[in-house]
Amino acid sequence: MRTLDQMRKEAAGDLETIDGAEVSADVQELLDELENTRKNDPEAKIIVGTDPDDQITFVFWASSEMQSDFKSFPEVLSIDNTYNTNKVKMPLTGFLCQDKFGHGKVAAWTLLRDEKKTTLHDAFLTFVETYASVKDKIRTVFVDKDMNEIMRLKEVLPDADVVVCRFHSGEIFKRQIDKKFDKDENKRVKGREVTKKMLSTECEEEYTKLYEELKTVASDPFMKYFDDNWHNSKLVWKGHERLQLVTFGVTTTNNNESLHGKLKPLLNKRRSLGNCFAKLRLYQQNDVNRSRMREFNNFAKVPYVCKNTDPTIRDIVSVCTPFVSNLIRQEYSSSLKMDALPGPYNVDIDKCTCAFYRSRGFPCCHMFFSRRLKGKQCFNR
Ligand SMILES: [Zn+2]
Repeated sequence: MRTLDQMRKEAAGDLETIDGAEVSADVQELLDELENTRKNDPEAKIIVGTDPDDQITFVFWASSEMQSDFKSFPEVLSIDNTYNTNKVKMPLTGFLCQDKFGHGKVAAWTLLRDEKKTTLHDAFLTFVETYASVKDKIRTVFVDKDMNEIMRLKEVLPDADVVVCRFHSGEIFKRQIDKKFDKDENKRVKGREVTKKMLSTECEEEYTKLYEELKTVASDPFMKYFDDNWHNSKLVWKGHERLQLVTFGVTTTNNNESLHGKLKPLLNKRRSLGNCFAKLRLYQQNDVNRSRMREFNNFAKVPYVCKNTDPTIRDIVSVCTPFVSNLIRQEYSSSLKMDALPGPYNVDIDKCTCAFYRSRGFPCCHMFFSRRLKGKQCFNR
């Protein structure tokens, strides 16, 4: 792996000695783009990975804004690849976090030469090294079900939970049902229904019941596939397992998908690498502008709730973004309707074992209820 500086020096050396013949125009254009990027943003982290034959294996870019965003919200990361963004067919990987407005924010972009073990490992390692200061705060990583990707992530982030995106899991189930179920449409419909419910279970018992139901309609080949790859695997994909983790309500890599949708008009398979990178920069600049506008609106607009006389609601609304405030107010409102704490939760005024608190870290209805019961201030600014 070499820094951009080293690459530039070597490219320049080549230009002097062999008149640039071995520095392809495409790579040179990319290097120029990277150089421009760094000039405009000296704090940007730009790394070009190379193999022993000095071929580029990946290009990693985290602008200063991306670094600032991810360092503020490192807990939940989602990773996804998109294709056909350049003529040399390098897949583009987006690393995303979620900001306080509930929007997906890019933490880094990587162009990969291929999706082989070492390439993925090196690219993921570069991400983790870039964010070494917050590495231990990365709790959950969402991916689609690419085992190679999952294994490489586990190598560089052994303490984080890797969760398979709910949407991608559902799509895989549908495809496998079409492939492996008997040709009885009623059974297939039931199979799709049951596997879909499995992705949103709230407890182990609910899952077990659905699993038994699946066995009554699924073919033997499907059950074998399902047991080997899902039921008995260590992957986190069942609804109730996901509820145990810090996710901030994220269940899919849809933030990435939506981002790829926005990039589609800018990128296509005819783009040179340099041009592909230039378009990414353009997208990022627009995104920075949109974020600044959101920050400004959040600062300039004084939020309030119509006809509200409750000081706790006023406090929640005044210190949280609309996205966070909506979540917390729903919990607070539920707490007002409670007569007693439900049995299964171990609640204190500052923590709770329920899924809402565990997955988001915001005060839940149980905490609000017990604070009121103990005469404590409901919401601490
Ligand atoms: Zn709770």
